[in-house]
Amino acid sequence: MSTERIHILGVPVDPVTMEQAVDRARQWLKTGEQGNILAVNPEKVITARANPEVHGFLASARLLIPDGIGIVLGARWLGLGRFERVAGADLMPELCAMAEVEGYSVFLYGANEDVNQRACAQLKGRYPQLTIAGSSHGFVTQEDMPKLIEHINRSGAMLVFAALGSPTQERWMQTYMPQLEARVFQGVGGTFDVLAGEVRRAPRLFRALNIEWLYRLLGNPTRLLRQTALPKFMFNVLKTKLTSKQD
Ligand code: UDP
Repeated sequence: MSTERIHILGVPVDPVTMEQAVDRARQWLKTGEQGNILAVNPEKVITARANPEVHGFLASARLLIPDGIGIVLGARWLGLGRFERVAGADLMPELCAMAEVEGYSVFLYGANEDVNQRACAQLKGRYPQLTIAGSSHGFVTQEDMPKLIEHINRSGAMLVFAALGSPTQERWMQTYMPQLEARVFQGVGGTFDVLAGEVRRAPRLFRALNIEWLYRLLGNPTRLLRQTALPKFMFNVLKTKLTSKQD
């Protein structure tokens, strides 16, 4: 299967498997290169089409995982290839498992103090040999940012998970990666809330049927407003399919 970058509605995505995503990160750690991993879902595609700044964050990322089932289906319908969903919330634990085995330490930046601490405790429980070199809540002011950058660098962490929501976490990476010594950066959105048990992941059946979005919608109907991106995305995919000669 080709892992060459594709463009869905003009927005880039890397059709990698979970294993390939972890391998990329492992490679950056080994060679000392820096790389960031961002998640692409229908909501982000719609935002990126309307917002050149967000499009720029995605275009300059080293790895763009297909986080939403909408991306997987959209790409299939457009004849852009068949690949699986790689959820950011699943990739983060996989990267921690790899870091534990290979001896790299991690830093957790984001969410409120309580959620952040509980997410760290969860990871420590799951990966006892993993070194969590440091952590910080995600509400650091501009004024205190140099202190945070120093804190992360002094911690020696080689992987940084940024859970600030989009596009705050993408902007933060773009701005501060050049000042940071860590190698792997992943934007993980609300994953610390999931780890802390604040937000529940959908039961296995919903995940297996690729309807995790439906579970989240049922649990939090206000998300419906945010989900307007999904019909917009699907409409644009269909429009592109009907008007282009792809396939
Ligand atoms: N957050 C943060 N700093 C901010 C704004 C938000 O740390 O300045 C955290 C917030 O506490 C939550 C996460 O970012 O833990 C956002 O999660 P959400 O599910 O909204 O992310 P997205 O839908 O963008 O993936």
